[in-house]
Amino acid sequence: MNPSPAAPGSQASLREANRLRVLDALREQGAMTQVEIAGSTGLSPATVSNMVKELDAAGAVELAPSIRNGRRAVLVSLATGNTLLAGIAFGDRDVRVAIATGPRDIVGRHRMPLPASHNADEGMERASRLLYDLVDKSGKTMSDVKAVGVGIPAPVDSVTGQVGSESILPGWRGIDVGDEMRARLGAPVVIDNTSNLGALGELRCGALQGVSDGAYIKLSYGVGAGLVLGGEIFRGSAGTAGEIGHLTIDENGPICRCGNRGCLETFIGSPALTDALMGSHGRLTLRDIIANALEGDMGCRRVLEDAGRHLGVAVAGLVNLLNPEVVVVGGQLAQVGDIILEPMRRALDRSAIPSATASLDVRLSDLLTGADVVGAVVAAETLHAANDNLLVTIASTS
Ligand SMILES: [Zn+2]
Repeated sequence: MNPSPAAPGSQASLREANRLRVLDALREQGAMTQVEIAGSTGLSPATVSNMVKELDAAGAVELAPSIRNGRRAVLVSLATGNTLLAGIAFGDRDVRVAIATGPRDIVGRHRMPLPASHNADEGMERASRLLYDLVDKSGKTMSDVKAVGVGIPAPVDSVTGQVGSESILPGWRGIDVGDEMRARLGAPVVIDNTSNLGALGELRCGALQGVSDGAYIKLSYGVGAGLVLGGEIFRGSAGTAGEIGHLTIDENGPICRCGNRGCLETFIGSPALTDALMGSHGRLTLRDIIANALEGDMGCRRVLEDAGRHLGVAVAGLVNLLNPEVVVVGGQLAQVGDIILEPMRRALDRSAIPSATASLDVRLSDLLTGADVVGAVVAAETLHAANDNLLVTIASTS
């Protein structure tokens, strides 16, 4: 039976709102005594006492004896018990998986390369195997994994849940990754674009903490952006906002994998960088280019400096439109730091309006290549909290 939502303003809806306030306070601030919960939520001690009794009976909180200000007290915390969350981030050439008890508490992580022409089935099979292995190593079972966040390096249609572009991630077309992964893992799954998840990871635990309006730019095999507006991820009407990699920067430029011409990605995507070095250096991987540049190889540095300049021109458009406080650069290429950041800043200063760049802070990612996996854990945590609150509501109304 589905729970019917409590009518607004009713006694039941007030209780539900209070219950959410207590759970949110514990999620944000960790374990507290009932007196502290009352202080933090503004609820009366009697209401808090009732809420805690209900939540404890529903198994949503744990109670532990403690000492506060020299007196015996009972600390209330969110029940973690055997709760594990998982984050999976697919790249164009790899998949990374993490298990965690929270976004800041990753207890295991693993990465596996994916072949260039892999199909969705292979990718999802490898990711599932990695996750099963990690859970097994942690001494838990898959039934302890309460929710899984999954990131895809392509637009995800927020209505259908399918990979929103056939050309950007071939081999995954028409696949409902959420449904497929749910069936493989037997756990609730939430799916999003990896750039959005990168922004979410930085917003919660990294360089975008406390930022109201900002952007996260993911520079890896391709390039994408996650936008933060009013402290929330902005996905657009169909979930495809932030496709900065397919912003036209040269109408007569090379044909892009999306079918357009002269997209940013045709200048700074991994194939463009490796092609530019083919004559002088032979066939290099993105990892080679990064390692060589850090060791001072002039050709590799030059290619990355040019990429930074092109990126600055594209980001200037975004800065003029959205006037963000902070732009965070993450993904594999962020490992070269100022080699890419300095030319990017110079191009931004030249191309964006001065009033928008005057207060703009361009930062390196705090989480580097891990931002999307952390964001996937954040998304899993949110999904689990929503399911959990629903269970508590069902328990209290039955
Ligand atoms: Zn394109």
